[in-house]
Amino acid sequence: MTGFLDDGCLDGRSLRLNRVTVAPSSPAELVLTGPCGSVIGRLRFRVCRTCRAGRIMSLWICDTWQRQGLGRELVYFLLAQHRGYRWNTTPQSRLGRAFFAAVAQESAVSLRRGSPLCPHLMGWCRWTWRRLLHSR
Ligand SMILES: [Zn+2]
Repeated sequence: MTGFLDDGCLDGRSLRLNRVTVAPSSPAELVLTGPCGSVIGRLRFRVCRTCRAGRIMSLWICDTWQRQGLGRELVYFLLAQHRGYRWNTTPQSRLGRAFFAAVAQESAVSLRRGSPLCPHLMGWCRWTWRRLLHSR
């Protein structure tokens, strides 16, 4: 776990942002922690450096912290970390579609839902399955 920001650096609020990678095959996460140390937001994603592509798997903001632009900040942070990458997302709820459409418009980065942009962004199971299919 590596901290990007020191205490109290996100917009003057005492929130912390950490990037967490569990295993290379599983999605990475941006985890946002509130003043009391509890997790208030999570952005799960995968990136492929080879193909310069990324995929947002899910975005969650705790009820009490919603409508404060935190989701947008998480997505912007992620996009800024991977400039020039192509992005898309997993299927989204109606709310999610409106959210990502707004962020895409503001950031000029396409954030449509769709299938992974390169084979490396598929889940490990699907990737293995594909390789099995192709090796026949
Ligand atoms: Zn790739």
